[in-house]
Amino acid sequence: MSTADDGAVPERTVWLTYPGPGVTEARARIAERSAQWRRAGALKQLALWLLLPLVALVPPHFPWILIVLVLGGMRAWSRWNEHATLLSLHGPCPKCGTEQEFTETGRMKFPHKVTCQHCRWDLRVELTPPRGA
Ligand SMILES: [Zn+2]
Repeated sequence: MSTADDGAVPERTVWLTYPGPGVTEARARIAERSAQWRRAGALKQLALWLLLPLVALVPPHFPWILIVLVLGGMRAWSRWNEHATLLSLHGPCPKCGTEQEFTETGRMKFPHKVTCQHCRWDLRVELTPPRGA
């Protein structure tokens, strides 16, 4: 999810690593999320549950209720745990050197993994310089 202030997030340096000797520097925009933002986002996802009385009317009733409950719960849980959001990531692959715009943005995981579109290696996004960089 992007919000109005996401445009103000400056670019910073991150490092891309893979299970090998190479390390490259990349440029990323990462938005830190406050507890307030996460709570508001989680509540917004739970609003899906407001559809429950509606979907309960559609036969076969039970699967719809379950799907809406689980989907709303999972999305709220994911938003609640989104401490940082990766807005953009651009840089060369440490394995094959291909400069690219990575598409695995959204909730940041620690470690956050992205895949090179050229050589298909899984790369790790490091927020601090790895040893040897
Ligand atoms: Zn590559």
